[in-house]
Amino acid sequence: MLQEIPMKQCKYGLVAIIGKPNVGKSTLMNRILGQKVAIVSDRPQTTRGTVRGILTREDAQVVYLDTAGIHKPKDMLGNVMVSSARISANSADMIYLMVDSKDFPDEGKALINLISSLHLPVFLVMNKIDRMNKEELLPLIDTYRNLYPFQEIIPVSALKGENVDVLVNKTVEYLPYGEKQFPEDILSDQIERHFLSEFIREKVYRFTYQEIPHSTAVEIEDVRDTEDKPLYIRAHIIVERESQKGIIVGKGGQVIKKIGETARAEIEAFMGKKAFLDLWVKVEKDWRKDERVLERLGYRSTLPRRGDRRKSR
Ligand code: GDP
Ligand code: MG
Repeated sequence: MLQEIPMKQCKYGLVAIIGKPNVGKSTLMNRILGQKVAIVSDRPQTTRGTVRGILTREDAQVVYLDTAGIHKPKDMLGNVMVSSARISANSADMIYLMVDSKDFPDEGKALINLISSLHLPVFLVMNKIDRMNKEELLPLIDTYRNLYPFQEIIPVSALKGENVDVLVNKTVEYLPYGEKQFPEDILSDQIERHFLSEFIREKVYRFTYQEIPHSTAVEIEDVRDTEDKPLYIRAHIIVERESQKGIIVGKGGQVIKKIGETARAEIEAFMGKKAFLDLWVKVEKDWRKDERVLERLGYRSTLPRRGDRRKSR
């Protein structure tokens, strides 16, 4: 398949990062791109849907799809996450199967079945090696080698950045030749709405209690970016019940105030300009079970398919 091609030619391709919640997929993507693109959380399932982060080097452009973890679906939203991992894996040129090296290699038949049905190069990315010693690592690598014929097994620490350059270089080797599809200075083609909403959702997590996160979504209603004026963002925090609304608003509006202030500060730092965040809490009963709402919120988002690549912007 590999033809003789002049060395100078560029590589282009999509890499889907799949793995259970909390293994460090978002951290890895942020590390590779060197900026906060996907949100990172201690709680599983922070990443909903797929985030596209774009790495541009002189010799390559790599589009990363950070998918929601594959796990046992508990409700419809769970199902959507599983299928979003599947969809992005389908549209990819190669896969990172990411695991927490501390976990016993029980990545489950579902994952192995999924990757083996795709006929794509698969790298096993063994993350969080900063938490273990080298003697523990070697036998583990062997165990994984017996599980599936991975093209490469690469131990990394996404958090510390250890071995991440090796991972990226190997990735470029495996990608097909092709022209860059996105402008050089772009980090993500979903920056506007998706990242704004992720910044806010992260703060909802931080300032509320257990019950809230998984029934919350953030919808960006309006963004106005006019030169010389602060960025104007109107957003809805969507919850399932009135009682949840009460928790998010808090006594005398204390909680939502904190959410708004911290989210705004981060958005300003990220966008490099002043922002005005107009934040509302909205109850949409059982929104997680409503197909139309899920679609509206982007949980049914379509991904770039091969042959369907557009120049963004
Ligand atoms: P995701 O659900 O797979 O996207 O996982 P996240 O990227 O949100 O990371 C989950 C948690 O694991 C966060 O608390 C990260 O800081 C932590 N984490 C990620 N990578 C590493 C790593 O290499 N080493 C250690 N010690 N922790 C990590
Ligand atoms: Mg994530």
